[in-house]
Amino acid sequence: MTGGRRTLAVAGVVLAVAAATDVGRHLHGGLPSVAGASSDEQESSVADAPSAAPATTVAPATTSVAPAQAAPARTPRETAGAASELDVHVALPRSLPARVVEVPILMYHRIGATDASMGPVARGLTVAPDDFAAEMAWLHDAGYAAIGQHDLFAALEHGAPLPPQPVLITFDDGYRNVLYHAAPVLHRLGMHATAYVITGRIGRGDPVFLTWQQLAHLEAMGVEIGSHTVSHRDLTLLADSEAVRELRASRRALEADLHHPVQWLAYPIGAQDARVRGLAQQAGYALAVTTLPGLRQDAAAPFALRRLRILDTTGVAGLAALLGRAAPA
Ligand SMILES: [Zn+2]
Repeated sequence: MTGGRRTLAVAGVVLAVAAATDVGRHLHGGLPSVAGASSDEQESSVADAPSAAPATTVAPATTSVAPAQAAPARTPRETAGAASELDVHVALPRSLPARVVEVPILMYHRIGATDASMGPVARGLTVAPDDFAAEMAWLHDAGYAAIGQHDLFAALEHGAPLPPQPVLITFDDGYRNVLYHAAPVLHRLGMHATAYVITGRIGRGDPVFLTWQQLAHLEAMGVEIGSHTVSHRDLTLLADSEAVRELRASRRALEADLHHPVQWLAYPIGAQDARVRGLAQQAGYALAVTTLPGLRQDAAAPFALRRLRILDTTGVAGLAALLGRAAPA
């Protein structure tokens, strides 16, 4: 890593650290140029297995989050503009509201070509670029609005209005091919998404995974960054201290690099229970996604958001079916 992390030149926009408050989620300065090669993709070692987590409901947390210890002091701004949202830690209401919103959250992993060396799990989690583009085009044409994490948080916890047919698009594990094959499609269609990255895999020279600089590129293209912990271990099997370290160290690393709060979490392999959900809150997160299926999100369970798993075989027809829509002709 070089000193380039201090000042990031992205798509002609210089994102000086001190000017980070002016950087929103909507930068329209053109696409960062990214080399399109994906031939370096290998078998994943972090493919998520189907969740074994019980489908029980969450005991609502009742305390407010005070996650700001690790972050640089910033002046909260009352403006609702997207440009300021990234810079302010959000806090859960002291008493979580009884509210359910229908916001399907799509769970992708890799967007790329498959090859014979891949095992069945890795292949299943790899959506072909053409299929991904077709799925996004269908969502767009069908009137879905791809919202961001702040939109979901505000809708759940504060009753903020959402656009019609909201959807949240997510990518787990931080694969580099998301930058090559997903971000340009999303950017072109004006769709937001979130990439949950494993901070221990970033910047280690492994071409399968994103680099720190590429995280900034993704953000510039409208893809928010969330945490998928430091090392992708099953948090339910770790002692409290170790689980908190996984959660907190990854969040702090992302915040230090991106210069804004990062309060969005995806549990590795979807594994979570009441203890882990409590630790995630303690570690400063505001929303966390599971691999439990479902279209509706419960404001009383912000650390147990449900997702729809999108596989290589899902396709547009499968996506439409998951969303309860008629398959397109
Ligand atoms: Zn994962």
